[in-house]
Amino acid sequence: MICPQCRSADCFRSRRAGILDFLGSFAGLRPWRCHTCDFRFYAWRVAVSFAGYAHCSRCGNFDLERVSSDRVARSIRNFLPRSLGFRAYRCDPCRLKFFSIRPYRRILPSMAPLPAENAAHS
Ligand SMILES: [Zn+2]
Ligand SMILES: [Zn+2]
Repeated sequence: MICPQCRSADCFRSRRAGILDFLGSFAGLRPWRCHTCDFRFYAWRVAVSFAGYAHCSRCGNFDLERVSSDRVARSIRNFLPRSLGFRAYRCDPCRLKFFSIRPYRRILPSMAPLPAENAAHS
């Protein structure tokens, strides 16, 4: 799990507390907390704020490899995305190949300060 605020991978599952957490669990959301910056956030496989980007549904990896759609095994589930020309990706750690319509952004856990381009927005 990558922290949406500081991108540290040092996050742990937070205990559910309060009505919002219980409501979130209906949507499959789990509360997490970052050890590095103490930021509390909600996540499915990945943090909510990162969920709009292509990621591996198995491990939450964003460091994906673009592959040709021919390399993704044909199945009923991916018939539609294949026909619609979604991009095909491969997750190296779990060797999962899948389609995604989401934009690709290589979000990597960082132990170092964020690059200057991110700081420029504030
Ligand atoms: Zn953090
Ligand atoms: Zn994966």
